[in-house]
Amino acid sequence: MAITFACASSAFSQEYLNGMKWTAPAIISPGARDADAPSDAVILFDGKDLSKWKNADTWVVKDGVAICGKAQITTKEEFGDCQLHVEWSAPMPAAGSGQGRGNSGIFLMGRYELQVLDSFDNLTYFDGQAGAIYKQTPPMVNAMRKPGEWNTYDIFWTGPRFKADGSLETPAYITAVHNGVLILNHFQLLGDTPFNRPPQYKAHSPKGPISIQDHGNPVRFRNIWIREIANAKGVQEREPFLRSGDKETPIAKSPK
Ligand code: MG
Repeated sequence: MAITFACASSAFSQEYLNGMKWTAPAIISPGARDADAPSDAVILFDGKDLSKWKNADTWVVKDGVAICGKAQITTKEEFGDCQLHVEWSAPMPAAGSGQGRGNSGIFLMGRYELQVLDSFDNLTYFDGQAGAIYKQTPPMVNAMRKPGEWNTYDIFWTGPRFKADGSLETPAYITAVHNGVLILNHFQLLGDTPFNRPPQYKAHSPKGPISIQDHGNPVRFRNIWIREIANAKGVQEREPFLRSGDKETPIAKSPK
């Protein structure tokens, strides 16, 4: 018993300190439900109007829902790395097949498409089904709800970085959750997502709009919000060390 106590005491008498001085994380208020916008979100559609979007003249807002019209809509505001929440529902009754059934899409930075499709009992090429990064990867699983029911996408986006000469510095990454299920896990994008040529990166600004595709199907949307994200901020004030009472010991660097 005495030995156990001595060990525990000795273990806690030494503390590891990483030498970082962190900036206090901003205090925000989460939504009442996880699907509700937190206090630091930009509301892109709250059921009332599409005033935050361009080219929305042919879209219809009815009963708190935006119904896809005859043009791709694009946010007026631009965003960098972000968390994006979108709720969408495939047309009811289901009509068409393959890519012709409930097709739309969420374009990050106006160029990189996370596919929206009625993928409930609707076969198409796998890297074109709901939750795919179009023509790059299928989702890990098909978590689609039935037509008429509401789907949620929670998207975590890291945009690409470009060097001054326009070449790629780091690619884009996406993590996405469909109806609470992880479907893309830090997937590294190969470039943009066109139908008719291979993906490619072309230098663009660090921010871009969100767009929602018109593919000729009356897909419905609601509760869309976004928040820009950035890593916690801090400075390395000193090298990591161990503290035991008044004694501080630098941590020996392991050979590389
Ligand atoms: Mg699409």
